[in-house]
Amino acid sequence: MGSQGLARRAGGFMTAATAIEGAMRGLKGVILGVANNRSIAYGIAKAVRAAGAEVALTFQGEALEKRVRPLAADLGAQVLGHCDVTDGATIDAVFEEARKLWGGIDFVVHCIAFADKDQLTGRYIETTEENFTKSLMISCYSFTAIAQRAEKLMNNGGAMLTLTYYGAEKWMPHYNVMGVAKAALEASVRYLAADLGRQNIRVNAISAGPIKTLAASGIGDFRYILRWNEFNSPLRRTVTTEEVGQSAVYLLSPMSLGVTGEILHVDAGYHIVGMKHPDAPDINVGNAGA
Ligand code: NAD
Repeated sequence: MGSQGLARRAGGFMTAATAIEGAMRGLKGVILGVANNRSIAYGIAKAVRAAGAEVALTFQGEALEKRVRPLAADLGAQVLGHCDVTDGATIDAVFEEARKLWGGIDFVVHCIAFADKDQLTGRYIETTEENFTKSLMISCYSFTAIAQRAEKLMNNGGAMLTLTYYGAEKWMPHYNVMGVAKAALEASVRYLAADLGRQNIRVNAISAGPIKTLAASGIGDFRYILRWNEFNSPLRRTVTTEEVGQSAVYLLSPMSLGVTGEILHVDAGYHIVGMKHPDAPDINVGNAGA
């Protein structure tokens, strides 16, 4: 949805582009996790560019390189190269590229998660040791690994941001090991925030509501989860990657200089809900639709 659509949804209050224009002018940063134009990382990259920042992207492997390069060209973003967080040398390499490009950075955005698809359905108790270790490594530890590299390039303070989900706080169907990984990720946001605060580096997370992306398509009954949120969130809809991008601009820009260690819910208010709304239609997995 374009900014006009967003403005309509916001009651014509202000267009999204007007709201953030210039908010990040002069800032430079790295965004990891663009897979395609549906990625939350892409929504953030677009918003951050609209706010005036310079951006560099990474990609995971050759297949995604073919998607990421044209998207970067459209955005006017740099491409730092291949980064697979299971291989620390590739993390070093892309941050070295960022150093060569700019000398230092002001922000980093981590939009990376992985769990074996077979275990994103059914019972958490079935999680294997191998899947647990890999999921926690990629979905949680990688943010700390990236923070280690980014810290060295943030000589004038900075902002770090990661993406989490409500399944960290409450049980969600099929989210399983990802819920455990996101809980650990949210705890790491707090520990990193405390470690880096003296250097004026802020560390925050956005807890996004469900959005149909490549990663989300691996979660069992995802359509049902989307529909349930649409019917039961206070705003009676789900959120867009553009909206997550707008909130990312807030957390990455001087608009939030006093904010760190925070988990900001961008979920149409779903996290305050305790029960199905009496007006919400009854749906089941079968009739949840597209
Ligand atoms: P996506 O599939 O577009 O992005 C996931 C990214 O993770 C991809 O770019 C992929 O390349 C990257 N990745 C996976 N393993 C990696 C590895 N070993 N090394 C480097 N990169 C790796 O999906 P998305 O939904 O935009 O996911 C981005 C983040 O948002 C994830 O952390 C996800 O958990 C989180 N999130 C998503 C939703 C949702 O409903 N889509 C909701 C809340 C939070």
